[in-house]
Amino acid sequence: MTIIPTSPSTNSVKPNFTDYDGERTRFSWSDIERQLGPAPGGCNIAYYAVDRHDCDSHRNEIAFRFVGPNTNDVGELATTEMTFGEFALQVRKFTDVLRELGVGKGDPVVVFTGRIPELYVSILGALRNGNIVSPLFSAFGPEPLATRIRLGDAHVLVTTEQLYRRRVEKIRGSLPSLRHILVVGDSGSTTDIPDTLDFHSAMADADGDCDITPTSADDAALLHFTSGTTGTPKGAIHVHGAVATHYATGLYALDLHPSDVFWCTADPGWVTGTSYGVITPLLHGVTSIVDSNEFDAERWYRILEEQAVTVWYTAPTAIRMLMKSGPELAHKYSHPNLRFIASVGEPLNPDAVLWGRDVLGRPIHDNWWQTETGGIMIANTPGFAIKPGSMGRPLPGIDACIVRRTDDGGTAPVETPNVEGELAIRRGWPSMFRGYLNNDDRYRRAFAGDWYLTGDLAKRDADGYYWFVGRADDVIKSAGHLIGPFEVENVLMEHPAVAEAGVIGKPDPIVGAVVKAFVSVKKGQNPDDALRRELLGHSRKKLGAAVAPKEIEFVDVLPHTRSGKIMRRLLKARELGLPEGDTSTLEVGG
Ligand code: ATP
Ligand code: MG
Repeated sequence: MTIIPTSPSTNSVKPNFTDYDGERTRFSWSDIERQLGPAPGGCNIAYYAVDRHDCDSHRNEIAFRFVGPNTNDVGELATTEMTFGEFALQVRKFTDVLRELGVGKGDPVVVFTGRIPELYVSILGALRNGNIVSPLFSAFGPEPLATRIRLGDAHVLVTTEQLYRRRVEKIRGSLPSLRHILVVGDSGSTTDIPDTLDFHSAMADADGDCDITPTSADDAALLHFTSGTTGTPKGAIHVHGAVATHYATGLYALDLHPSDVFWCTADPGWVTGTSYGVITPLLHGVTSIVDSNEFDAERWYRILEEQAVTVWYTAPTAIRMLMKSGPELAHKYSHPNLRFIASVGEPLNPDAVLWGRDVLGRPIHDNWWQTETGGIMIANTPGFAIKPGSMGRPLPGIDACIVRRTDDGGTAPVETPNVEGELAIRRGWPSMFRGYLNNDDRYRRAFAGDWYLTGDLAKRDADGYYWFVGRADDVIKSAGHLIGPFEVENVLMEHPAVAEAGVIGKPDPIVGAVVKAFVSVKKGQNPDDALRRELLGHSRKKLGAAVAPKEIEFVDVLPHTRSGKIMRRLLKARELGLPEGDTSTLEVGG
């Protein structure tokens, strides 16, 4: 197996990767308080992310650089900058706006806009006011939007004029919980939509001098919906104390320093986009790049180069799309500033790790976490060797374990290396979710004693690295073997013609299930019978007949969630002619 050196760590604080040893390595809210100083009025994410930086040493540094659609006079993509000081003033004003409206601590606020400055201002202003904030992805249609507003019992909605007219207007009558709608006018104009408030007029009237609302580390701060990969999206509730995880993981897993230019490509409508696209970079005082456009290979290479990005956090689908776009495009741009690249959301194929090293000049560091965990739990960290294909090792203070479920409803640890079981995390880390919205029973079932059961299957090797096998729901049982789709997909992806692969178990009366692969091919490749035979042969040679796919179907694209994950449950439902279930998070065209 290849082990490749990682980017060197530039951290002065070195993580301790010896096995979990109880309280000593467990970072907690009070540790962070010791490092960052006490917050007035208790623990509020917005204090550490915003108020703390409104000081002489940091006020004039750039907090956000928004990349626009047009080019400037030197031919680069035009940007708009916002300093920490300017951002802090806007945030305080938005807190004022909410207070003037009588919106109080604990009231749910939904932010439904594209990646515009007002999104970031609203999220932090509402956190500062003690609200429970739920950023929703702007590509949601009226139905998924209405469902989430209703589930979250939102009192306030912040949106844009265009989104209001296209999505909100239709459903407004069915949303009795909404007391206030603030609308950001298109291209800076004021809006006069009946029964709504113009965002910028309200901000202009606010003076921005109100105090932060006192909150404790256990007060609810964020409501995030899961990606809906395996079923109906679940609403996970997070607390202000999560800031400890955000801060520590920014240091240990992403290697952030105040001088960094950081680009997290996830939309804040997903947990990655809030934890690492909004909160963590602000906590570390770095400059964040925000691109309001959707993925485009050339644009992304350009942004990395033109913005001199130093730390990049992205996802396997995007990396696979960059790989698919070919080497010529990649070599048009250079990235001498790029110091650290990380990926999350799906298994990262070993090929992609090495592609990063060869094409971008840095290997890609996979890390693992979920909406429920609120922050990164397992990572290939800076300063430690990467094992391509592995998610890495638990971060300091995170006690992970492989368990198997026992007949009495409990769990038992799997101590032997390389034996697969369910990935579990010992409860109590600061960003642990504190509930599933309106589903206490499901929340209770997610824990067995001290352990949170993640629903993902994995193995741990003798060096303590974790290897993703598949989601418990996706694992294929074939002729007595348990087959993780990721292993099969990886082998298919190794073939130079393959762009992406999704593998499912197709029910079979004799062996239980046979492995079927859906494959999309790279540009210029011909998806014909000869290629099918070649791929079947290639997989058999690498995986053996028991694990290799029996069937391969070529498709133009695989269905993905809007957060970029392959929806195997949909491939399976379509294969079997079954209802597709909840498709609210399905990407258009999937
Ligand atoms: P739902 O719970 O609604 O089915 P989801 O689990 O996809 O959706 P998220 O919380 O966004 O929603 O995704 C977390 C899941 O993504 C993890 O449980 C895991 O299955 C997968 N994942 C995240 N990072 C990695 C990784 N590095 N390697 C493998 N899988 C990963
Ligand atoms: Mg999940």
